[in-house]
Amino acid sequence: MIVTGKNEMSTQRLTDQFKKLVSIDSLSFHERDMADYLKEKMSSLGIDLLEDDSAERTGGNCGNLYGCFHGSKDAEPLLFLAHMDTVAPGIGKKAIEHADGTITSDGSTVLGADDASAIAVIIEAIQEIQEEKLPHRDIEILFTTAEEAYTVGVSAFDLSKIRAKKAFVLDVSGPVGGYQLTEPTLISFTFTIKGKASHAGFEPEEGVNAILAASRAIGRLPIGRPDDHSTFNIGVINGGTATNIVPDKVTVSGEIRSLVHEDALKLLSRAEEIFKDEAEALGAEATVQHNTFLEAYRIADDDPAFLMYKKALDKHHIEPRDRKSFGGSDNNVLRRNGIDGLCIANAMNKIHSCEEYTNIRDLEKVTAIVRELMLN
Ligand SMILES: [Zn+2]
Repeated sequence: MIVTGKNEMSTQRLTDQFKKLVSIDSLSFHERDMADYLKEKMSSLGIDLLEDDSAERTGGNCGNLYGCFHGSKDAEPLLFLAHMDTVAPGIGKKAIEHADGTITSDGSTVLGADDASAIAVIIEAIQEIQEEKLPHRDIEILFTTAEEAYTVGVSAFDLSKIRAKKAFVLDVSGPVGGYQLTEPTLISFTFTIKGKASHAGFEPEEGVNAILAASRAIGRLPIGRPDDHSTFNIGVINGGTATNIVPDKVTVSGEIRSLVHEDALKLLSRAEEIFKDEAEALGAEATVQHNTFLEAYRIADDDPAFLMYKKALDKHHIEPRDRKSFGGSDNNVLRRNGIDGLCIANAMNKIHSCEEYTNIRDLEKVTAIVRELMLN
């Protein structure tokens, strides 16, 4: 209609598809029903989705789905990625259509347009290309699990299966035309401080107070925003057993985010030094465990996927809008593995809240853009 001159039938089909996806419960690690539905749906379009064995490693009830929409055009394959999981509260989601084309939940759950709108759009674009018998390149499809849990699903997927060197990840909220310019490195950490227990009333001199060592260290940490592109947080402390015992163990957990990967690593080693320092000063011992969930990237002006996106937007007179996120997405993992992905807007707003909404016209616009990218 607005952008593609599409008929009412395909508008209805897209809306119905979106509503159907919303109606399926698909919390992170519980995407089984969604995966089964998508296998059946895509198979009816002639596309076999294979489920990988990542469930064994993620602890979820299904794996990632991978397939290819084979084309005859002699061009390098392209990957389109969307995640199957939604955040809580997300059980019993209902899509409610309003007179102005807005679609919301009933207010008691998220809508799950994050990321059902992406899946609906990919399915609709494929259907239109098939119906119109348009020549296209090989389109690889990856539907991931547990994106919302620090991209656990795609991290467990064997990305060497992907032939595409360029990818579009549909997972950006806000106006159509948006894309993610940067995403940060995210490192989570836990420091463990081991002291020595003793009776606090009878022989406090015999103890080494792990809480004291931890609190001295915490007081020296660059908590908050250590520089203009990094954050540092302590979120959880556990330790001690009783008020009359000198505590012998404390754990301190937190996270570091930074748009510059090296700076995140520097912050971590600085924290490590501080903990070791303060522990040593009291005769305690500090160790650290850390996990890099995401690795930062920044899209260059001449990034090949970005240039394709710009061209597709141009055709529909939509301006590209860059967004800087301090969250992460499956694209961090693609980029780290040599696939130049671009995260693009997919008609979702106020995500991760019960006010989440989408709009039918925006869904159509994104479908038109995705079609353009598939046909390019
Ligand atoms: Zn998402």
